Amino acid sequence: MKPASFNYHAPRSVDEAVALLAEFGPQDGRVLAGGQSLVPTMAFRMARPTHLIDINGIAELARLTVDGDRLSIGACVRHAAFDSDTVKGATGDLLRKVVHNIAHYPIRTRGTFCGSVANADPASEWCCVMAALDGIAVLRSQRETRRVPAADFNQGVMMTDLQEDEMVVACELPLLPEGTRSGFVEFSRRKGDFAIAMALVAYRLENGLIVEPRVAVGGAEPHARRIAEAEDALRGQAPGADVFAAAAEVAAQVVDPMEDINNTAAYRRGLVRTLTERALESAA
Ligand SMILES: Cc1cc2nc3c(=O)[nH]c(=O)nc-3n(C[C@H](O)[C@H](O)[C@H](O)COP(=O)(O)OP(=O)(O)OC[C@H]3O[C@@H](n4cnc5c(N)ncnc54)[C@H](O)[C@@H]3O)c2cc1C
Repeated sequence: MKPASFNYHAPRSVDEAVALLAEFGPQDGRVLAGGQSLVPTMAFRMARPTHLIDINGIAELARLTVDGDRLSIGACVRHAAFDSDTVKGATGDLLRKVVHNIAHYPIRTRGTFCGSVANADPASEWCCVMAALDGIAVLRSQRETRRVPAADFNQGVMMTDLQEDEMVVACELPLLPEGTRSGFVEFSRRKGDFAIAMALVAYRLENGLIVEPRVAVGGAEPHARRIAEAEDALRGQAPGADVFAAAAEVAAQVVDPMEDINNTAAYRRGLVRTLTERALESAA
């Protein structure tokens, strides 16, 4: 099928884009970023936006910059940007481990980090990264600029705090301290498919003991989130198979997994246990 007809706008600045959103957002106007989620749903006519606001011509949104202790990812930065060593240090290492799990290479050259965050698929790898690292979504409208922590931004399956006249202009991630170890593992039936579940872990060692543990699970619940109980099971422990297995068991017990036609909640719970343990093992 072909998309239903729509009006196309190509703003050259963020000010112009938010002015268009203020006017057309309430009339089902939508931002077009990489188009890798929006265009297929338009082709199937599951989405019929009346106005598309294409942000790809806004040069300032293509920036990937380090700003103090934060990495700022502009709204037009593609997934593929994280395949290179552009981002240094522990955060860059983690992003490189994650990125090749997203879709296929051609999709990664168009799809954007911020588009994934705005789209809020439960199985979005970048939403899992945002949750794990306490990332911040920077939202702009004509009214204001808001900085919303990932834990508040994500509200359910493809539901966020984004208002109809707002756009995500950037996502910010902390630069993890030197020496941070990280692991990311997901499971999907075929390479490139959306994952059924995923686990992301990060921690540092001080005097041989785990400090600043982060454990996040995606794909299993309506949105990715940190699992504080599993982090508590790691904090202050020496890394090892028994500790990892215990933390993974805690994660499996506290999640409230979704069910769908192919996957029971029990199956997803089992995946959370296995993937969390493997992510911890790979980080060690
Ligand atoms: C075959 C296939 C496999 C895929 N597999 C995966 C996968 O494994 N993991 C994964 O995470 N994704 C996957 N994707 C989706 C892909 O990663 C998309 O790129 C991503 O979900 C959306 O980013 P985008 O830039 O393409 O957004 P678009 O498709 O342009 O937009 C998606 C939605 O977000 C809104 N939006 C986009 N950017 C903004 C913004 N800056 N401000 C406000 N709203 C915005 C749009 O209005 C729209 O509603 C897959 C896609 C395909 C086609």
